[in-house]
Amino acid sequence: MNAEHIKNAAGELLSETVETRRFLHAHPEVSWHEIETSKYVEAHLRELGLTNIKRGFGGTEAGVTADLDCGDGPRVALRSDMDALPVREENDVPYRSQNDGAMHACGHDGHISILLGAARILKSMAPSLRGSIRFIFQPAEENGDPSGARKMIEDGAIEGVDAIGGLHLWSFVETGKVQWRQGPVMASSDRLNVTIRGKGGHGAMPHMAVDPIVAAANYVSAIQTITSRELDPLDSAVVSIGKISSGDTFNIIPERVAILGSLRSFRDEVRTSQEERLRRIGDGIASAYRCTAETRVSYMLPSVVNDPKITEILRDAAVEIAGPGLTEESPPLMVSEDFGVYLEHIPGTFFFVGAGNPAKGADFPHHSPRFNIDEDALATGISMMTAFGVSALEKLR
Ligand SMILES: [Zn+2]
Ligand SMILES: [Zn+2]
Repeated sequence: MNAEHIKNAAGELLSETVETRRFLHAHPEVSWHEIETSKYVEAHLRELGLTNIKRGFGGTEAGVTADLDCGDGPRVALRSDMDALPVREENDVPYRSQNDGAMHACGHDGHISILLGAARILKSMAPSLRGSIRFIFQPAEENGDPSGARKMIEDGAIEGVDAIGGLHLWSFVETGKVQWRQGPVMASSDRLNVTIRGKGGHGAMPHMAVDPIVAAANYVSAIQTITSRELDPLDSAVVSIGKISSGDTFNIIPERVAILGSLRSFRDEVRTSQEERLRRIGDGIASAYRCTAETRVSYMLPSVVNDPKITEILRDAAVEIAGPGLTEESPPLMVSEDFGVYLEHIPGTFFFVGAGNPAKGADFPHHSPRFNIDEDALATGISMMTAFGVSALEKLR
């Protein structure tokens, strides 16, 4: 791999890529509605002369795949997500969102521009490559259920693919840095839905009713012992209750309480064991208070588990592109990404490209209405995607 050539080519593409990113930023589309974005991407890929171009996945017109075919050899996929969030932008920039109520507040506009830039460089390098690159522009990463990754896979996006790479621009990490991690890097995300039923009645005569609110209050406290008392302290998991609904007014004991929560973990054993623990505590607490509990867990996204060998290829590429001083191991993160769905099928790696820079106002968290990136990170992103593609083709042969 010729890192200097790749970095120079990415540098030359920076101003054009910034323009692309700003155009996409001004025209955000939320999950499963990335139709104009997909058409824009498709037009770019056609102009580049890529082959096997498909647009429209999951029964929608969103999502694009295309191939750069360079003869016999491995097939490596490079993935970008494309969706914006239902957030009203508060940045006062010339390229602010023109779709009121939608905003690229996670940086996926940057991901699209980066992958388009990498496609341009890889195309120019085609005579020296052996194998093929599959470009995947995926809708609905944020939506969770149904996840865009799942639908793309069902519709054949990774058929014949040997390995996959994807990145996230990361405002918590300073521009110029690249972070990698072997094994679990992002958590699974599941939804807890509990209904505790009692018997409604007059608030003044609790002995004539069965109060589900007291049971629910105890339940919320009791499930905290799953992470503090039941799991190995070295295993990470989260049980967070985000919504409790019940009752109508101050003097009525309601019939039922509905509880919604978020479950996160890294290891499959922990993930699947949470459901039994929640049901056992729910049933036990409910019966102690003469109520009943119904526990349902909706499994949404697996954790993101990076393949050690593919991550080594990525890390080595990062050392050449960013330099050893700016290449570091990422901590595991409790947030989730539907990139993990690809990794249930094929080996790959998901990595982070620093895009934070307080001097440019790029230090707000992802999903904030003030979120922004340091656009210089786009050059690092293009270099990294290109370098990973080239190295993986070489090393997986
Ligand atoms: Zn996000
Ligand atoms: Zn994101």
